[in-house]
Amino acid sequence: MAKIIDGKAIAAKIRGELAEAVKKLGTHGITPGLAVVLVGEDPASKVYVSMKEKACQDVGIFSDEHKLPADTGEAELLALIEKLNNDPRIHGILVQLPLPKQIDTEKVLEAISPHKDVDGFHPYNVGRLVVGKPLFQPCTPYGVMVMLREIGVDLAGKEVVVVGRSNIVGKPVALMCLQQNATVTICHSKTRDLAAKVGMADVVIAAVGQPEMIKGEWIKEGAVVIDVGVNRVGDKKLVGDVEYAKASERASAITPVPGGVGPMTITMLLYNTVASAKRQAKG
Ligand code: NAP
Repeated sequence: MAKIIDGKAIAAKIRGELAEAVKKLGTHGITPGLAVVLVGEDPASKVYVSMKEKACQDVGIFSDEHKLPADTGEAELLALIEKLNNDPRIHGILVQLPLPKQIDTEKVLEAISPHKDVDGFHPYNVGRLVVGKPLFQPCTPYGVMVMLREIGVDLAGKEVVVVGRSNIVGKPVALMCLQQNATVTICHSKTRDLAAKVGMADVVIAAVGQPEMIKGEWIKEGAVVIDVGVNRVGDKKLVGDVEYAKASERASAITPVPGGVGPMTITMLLYNTVASAKRQAKG
């Protein structure tokens, strides 16, 4: 049976290290600050934003909340971002997505200073990742990489198969694995014979958004399986993109859902904010 990769434990360890780093910055008179901007009343977004605020408080990051009404205009939002870009107390700016339809999301993301772009979605940061000189790396894929590091997986020369090519997970995680000298295959909805592709992987990273679509029998004996998917089945149950029970019989290590990649995402947001404060302190 596979070792279960405990995302909660890894996240707790990193949050402990961040709390120490924040204390140390405090002795130099610096408190890392994260501005979180929420436009509208989307219930899921409200939950995410309150989780982020609480996580900031837990490690000692100053959380600067901006909750704007759903009919906020694009110019007003851009003006707020400009103000935050110039606010020395703020080291990271996060605009919760999705935005209401009257606002151009790309324009907003590009208005955030690349040096405060803790979500790593600004084209400047995407480009830095592509050329192998990352500044801010997007939180969920970054969390995946930290998990692999924490369980001692050396990716050099390994076959990594990423299923999913979104800009927030699939593509960046593939680039991060490439940066660590893995041989990377990116699969998507038009990929032929997905089972064979997955079957050759030493490390499978699933980011599809379809409940248990990656079958346990596809997994190579001894592979490491990272399941980014979060899918609600029925009223309460959450499942990943990988058929967990069967995959566990073949994998050497696997992330559960929930309790795997999920807890890492906000942790890496905190990490990016603290890293930004450290960089700005150095000038
Ligand atoms: P997304 O933007 O919907 O992308 C899904 C990707 O999966 C697309 O590239 C799509 O291919 C591919 N795909 C869909 N059906 C497929 C199939 N039958 N075979 C192969 N590939 C297929 O999703 P996302 O934003 O990357 O999120 C993926 C999952 O991760 C979701 O469950 C989401 O909830 C979860 N997630 C979790 C966290 C976390 O913190 N734990 C964070 C982000 C996302 P095409 O490009 O060809 O359409």
